[in-house]
Amino acid sequence: MSDSPVARLGGSVQGEAANDLTPLEACLLHAAETLERPMTVAALHAAQSGAQGSLTVRDAIVAAERAGLQAGFGKRRLRDFDDTLTPAILILENNRAVVLYHRLPGERLAVFDPALGEGMGEVDAATIEAAYTGYALLLRAEHRADLAALASGRRGHWFWSTLAQNRWAYTQVVLAAMLANFLGLSTSLFIMVVYDRVLPNEAMESLIALTAGVGVALLFDFLIKTLRAGFIDRAGQRADMAMGRRIFDQLLDMQMRARKGSTGALASTLREFETLREFFTSATLVAVVDLPFIILFIGVISLIGGPLALVPAIAVPVVLAVGIAVQPILSRLAEKNFADGQSKQGVLVETVAGLETIKAAGAQRRMRARWEDAIARQSDHGLRSRAVTQFAINATAFTQQAAQVMIVFYGVFLITDGKASMGALIASVILTGRTLAPLAQLAQTLTRFNQARTSYRSLDRLMKADSERPEGRNWISRPRLEGEITFDDVSFAYPDQTVDALRNISFTIKPGEKVAILGRIGSGKSTVARLMLGLYEPRQGSVRVDGIDIRQIDPGDLRRNVGSVLQDVWLFSGTVRENIAIGAMRPRDHEILDAARIAGVEDFVKRNPAGYDLMLAERGEGLSGGQKQAISLARALVGRPPILLMDEPTSAMDVQNEGEVIARLKTECADRTVVIVTHRTSLLELVDRVIVIDQGRVAADGPKSILNRRSAGAARAGGQDGA
Ligand code: ATP
Ligand code: MG
Repeated sequence: MSDSPVARLGGSVQGEAANDLTPLEACLLHAAETLERPMTVAALHAAQSGAQGSLTVRDAIVAAERAGLQAGFGKRRLRDFDDTLTPAILILENNRAVVLYHRLPGERLAVFDPALGEGMGEVDAATIEAAYTGYALLLRAEHRADLAALASGRRGHWFWSTLAQNRWAYTQVVLAAMLANFLGLSTSLFIMVVYDRVLPNEAMESLIALTAGVGVALLFDFLIKTLRAGFIDRAGQRADMAMGRRIFDQLLDMQMRARKGSTGALASTLREFETLREFFTSATLVAVVDLPFIILFIGVISLIGGPLALVPAIAVPVVLAVGIAVQPILSRLAEKNFADGQSKQGVLVETVAGLETIKAAGAQRRMRARWEDAIARQSDHGLRSRAVTQFAINATAFTQQAAQVMIVFYGVFLITDGKASMGALIASVILTGRTLAPLAQLAQTLTRFNQARTSYRSLDRLMKADSERPEGRNWISRPRLEGEITFDDVSFAYPDQTVDALRNISFTIKPGEKVAILGRIGSGKSTVARLMLGLYEPRQGSVRVDGIDIRQIDPGDLRRNVGSVLQDVWLFSGTVRENIAIGAMRPRDHEILDAARIAGVEDFVKRNPAGYDLMLAERGEGLSGGQKQAISLARALVGRPPILLMDEPTSAMDVQNEGEVIARLKTECADRTVVIVTHRTSLLELVDRVIVIDQGRVAADGPKSILNRRSAGAARAGGQDGA
């Protein structure tokens, strides 16, 4: 696709169209709207694969399909378009795009051109033809019934549907295996004929002809095997792309409450994708394909050697029986091995991430004990698993060799009785070897199969976890929010917790209002913030923004409208600039610089020669605590969201710095809704109203002055206690 406009369209076009959308994005939104499958800007944003911040055609197809549209991209001549093919997004030169809706009389076209504003317009076909690249994205609304199916996951199962997409590759593999097996017969038949016919008669011409024939068969065999490996590899590559993206998407869209277990365990589950892929795209699978041919080989042996076929006919079930007998043990061990891997990874990740604290707190001994425990368990289970596998391998090898000895032993009797020829015996020995060959790999295949199955199960569990953006869900499109926040009788408990973190919380924050949420530690302030961001859903009651339950707003739209600073500052590896702009749609330079200035990032970046290109390591290593906090504040300010939600935004800053930041925030946020969670009285300067949370309930709600009364009351009460 690299030579097609797809690649070119992926460039960073700073679309001058409405809402800063690229022409392709604007076209897609317009067409989707017309087809009554409206799409949100957040959905477009979510479908972007590249970091450069614009939609490629491939992403556009993904986004369209998620919204309930059928999309097809291809080369098509402009004059071929009639009303059955429209609407279609025509890709024009210079990163432009238009939606073609109708062909009008007199070589005119009804199009939507994002460069020319909202409505549809009429243009000459020749004008479009001149700029048309020849590529178009055809769109059609999915049938409603299918749409319902889409809601229940019509995009198909993350794993099986991807495999099914590769069915042609797998059919090729099976066909190739069949051919290879038939050709494999030729060598043994060749030897038989040579022994029985050529040698006694010294028929040299026949020998030459036969050898040439077998030579050709061998060459074919070689070719087919090479091709077969290629088919499997290609199927694997495709599966990699499709499945890999879906798994990562699911991780990103997973609801917070579904995220269970340690970081390391989750990471190791995700990595299991490789085990799974490996199994379905490796030579192991070829061994499985070869299994049915065992029957063919036994049939051929019985044709040429008569009763000699008895030997492999007994040996094969023996090997199979051993394989099946160890199966449950292997399955159990695979499960254990997987759990061990997870806990090992868990300890590892926790240790690496907390190394500084581990050293400082002297926690080495404890971490080492956990590590050794994990290692010991894993090696114990690994040992047992290997022992079982090895037993199966040895039993197979033993049976294989015994079968060859037995066939010779039995064959001699048959030859003396004149029931078989010398050539038939030799051919039977060779064929028996071939018959049992795929079984030799059976034990290993079974082990890997069990690992793959365990991986599949754990990944499937992850893929079934509740997503924030379930397919086929229609959101209320809210590109820009006013900023009214309502908590209506909200109760909430964290997953697996019996006590409610919030109880019957109700309040309304009007657009433009500035509110502080106060309370003691663990009272539930950060929980309120998480609910506002839709990171968790209330157990009872509702959280509304602009009167709409936030469950009906695309989480992407919501979070783009709520600039948020979380209590735990988290930066990513990359430059300071990237860290500030990380979530913004298409930030302009001046927007980043403005946000940085207000948050006080400029003050320390100025002193650094690398400036905004200063590279940060993971988690913002390389900066002080206060500096990190400033960057995360700047991140919340980019794009001037109508709502600002800040959880302890200045807790790591010094008094002077904090004062400056507050002063700048005050002018910056004059017209916006601001919610600040804090312990610091200095931040109260920014607000007019306070909401006090105590043990998950609203203890007080009113203008700032109520604080003075409360503290006066508390002092009086304290004074009396002291007396
Ligand atoms: P602080 O001032 O210390 O930040 P806070 O008011 O922000 O406190 P929250 O973080 O909202 O407190 O926590 C409220 C309660 O919910 C606490 O009792 C805490 O134990 C519990 N809690 C917080 N996060 C989780 C979680 N992820 N899982 C389970 N319980 C949690
Ligand atoms: Mg908190």
